[in-house]
Formats: sequence, C-alpha cells, structure tokens
Amino acid sequence: KERREKWRQEISLLRTIPYSDHQRWWTSDTIAVVTGANRGIGFEIVHQLAHHGLTVILTSREAAVGEEAAKVLREGGLNVVFHQLDIVDRDSIEAFAGWIRETYGGIDILINNAGVNFNTGSDNNVEHSEKVIHTNYFGTKNIIKAMIPLMRPSDAGARIVSVSSRLGRLNGKRNKIENLELRSKLENLETLSEELIDETVSTFLQQVKDGTWQEGGWPQVFTDYSLSKLAVNSYTRLMAKKLSDRPEGGKIYINCYCPGWVKTAMTGWNGHVSPEEGADTAVWLALLPDQFISGKFFSERHEIHF
Ligand code: NDP
Repeated sequence: KERREKWRQEISLLRTIPYSDHQRWWTSDTIAVVTGANRGIGFEIVHQLAHHGLTVILTSREAAVGEEAAKVLREGGLNVVFHQLDIVDRDSIEAFAGWIRETYGGIDILINNAGVNFNTGSDNNVEHSEKVIHTNYFGTKNIIKAMIPLMRPSDAGARIVSVSSRLGRLNGKRNKIENLELRSKLENLETLSEELIDETVSTFLQQVKDGTWQEGGWPQVFTDYSLSKLAVNSYTRLMAKKLSDRPEGGKIYINCYCPGWVKTAMTGWNGHVSPEEGADTAVWLALLPDQFISGKFFSERHEIHF
C-alpha cells in the first residue's frame, strides 16, 4: 500500500513536468476526440490533453451541457471544440464522422470514455443490463469502427484509448468468468474473435431475460458492468492484433486502462481517486512518445493483466 501511495505521488509530480520538445510528437493541429466528456473523467481528459497543446473535440450526448463544458475550458485559454455525439445512436455517430471529415479531414487520437453503470454499493443490479452492455461495449465498438477510417497517417501513429475497469478482468481475484472453456477461448488470441465477444454478451443478456443469469458463471461483482468492460478489454486485444499489420506511417495503437475508483457521479462521488488522477493514464497513453505499445491494459501508468 505504501509503495502504491509513493507511486501515486510520483505520478502527480510527473504530471507537472512538461514534455520536452523532442518528446512532443503533437502540435496544435493534432486532433483528439473524447466521448462522454461533459463531466467526470472525460471532462478531465479533455482538460489535460488541451493543456498539452492539442485541439480537443469534447463530445457529449446532450448538446447544452457539452457546449457549456467546452466553453468553460475555452475561457481558460484552451483549444476545445464541442460536437454532439451519442455513442449508442448510429445517426449521431454518422453525423459526427461526417463533421470530422469535413472540418478536420481526420483525427489522431480517440478516447473512449463514455459509459454507464447502475450498480451501487454491494448491489448487483442487472435490471439495466441492456443499456450497460449496449453503451459500454457496443457503443464503444461502433465509435472505434467509425473513427478508424478517419485516423490520419503519421510517424507517431494514431492512438485509441478506452477507459475500462479492473472489474472486467477475465480471471481476477474477486471477479472472473467461471466457465473455463469460455474463459480460455477469450484469453487465447487465436480463438478470440468479434463474434465470440458479441456471443458472450448476448448469451448473458438472454439469461438476464430468462432469469437464469445467476447460474451463468458470470463476473460476481457488478455483473453487467463488469462483463461490459471485459468485452471492451477483449475487443482492445482483438483490434490490436487486427491493426498490427498496418504499414509504417499508418499505424494505429489501441490500449485500455482502469482509472481506479474515482470521485465522479458514477460512484456517487465516493471514490478515493480524483478525476485528475483518474484521467492521467489516458493522457499518458495518448501522448506516449517513441513507445509503440498496443493491445495492453494499464493502471496508474503500469501494465496489468487482462
Ligand atoms: P460519469 O457518470 O461522471 O460520466 C460518464 C459520462 O459518459 C457522462 O458524460 C455521460 O453523459 C456519458 N455517457 C453515457 N452514455 C453515453 C452515450 N450513450 N453517449 C455519449 N456519452 C454517454 O462517470 P465517470 O467519469 O466516472 O466515467 C467515465 C468512464 O470511466 C466510464 O466509461 C466508466 O465506466 C469508467 N470508469 C469509471 C470508474 C469510476 O470509479 N468512476 C472506475 C472504472 C471505470 P451524461 O452526462 O449525458 O450522462
């Protein structure tokens, strides 16, 4: 615990040290998109990326609150532009992609932050499971698919970072997939496929409808939310493999991370990590100079097991 506290203090210090000129592969023309950024961790990711000098597109499903959030950051002298984006609405994704193409020609960084959770305390409320899986997994996947063709070629490579959770580990101490055959298929990159991930979450949703999910061997804590993040993690590994054969100059790196338990609306402000700390690893991964890392899972700037 002490070592962790020390490392957290070191990270706070590292955050105050500006990147040197030779580390800065980005300019003010570098475009970063952040989903669900009107509040919480997403808002703070926009703040930090804009502070490093990028142009950041703050997106939000509600136009009025998103406009207001972007205005606050612009008033602080930051280059932040608002656009509406609801990650579960195909028309909204299409309109957003069209606007990006016309306005900027493409993007360099995508941060998938938008997410929902309805479990509180020790509850395991799967009443909202459709919404959770559709937002956290299918929404994230759809925006990744829509943005990949818009990712601009560069020597540094384009970057995708998803805000995920340790709760979505395949074989965590407190949370695991108990069906050994399914776990091993999801673990193994040779057997991992988009169909397998989709089938896994669909089976869970069907069992929720049938009232049989409790016998399904699903993650024990915050089941629907954990499974949605497990799907995001699996999709990250799968996409890293699929994107790995892109030519030099056209590379796209994709990673995910757990922000810790963060004081935001999602936790009822009960977390023990500030949004600033929770945003740190996303910003660090998005801006990594000269380190081409893909298909990995991080926490506090350290790689952790899926
Ligand atoms: P918040 O609830 O404060 O923020 C969630 C954001 O996602 C809001 O801006 C919300 O918009 C947005 N959102 C939800 N659904 C959609 C949608 N369909 N389209 C676009 N935006 C949407 O929570 P956090 O800041 O804590 O969460 C951010 C991310 O971090 C989430 O992915 C969460 O799962 C993850 N995370 C959070 C942890 C924590 O301890 N807080 C721990 C681990 C992971 P609106 O305001 O309109 O609701």
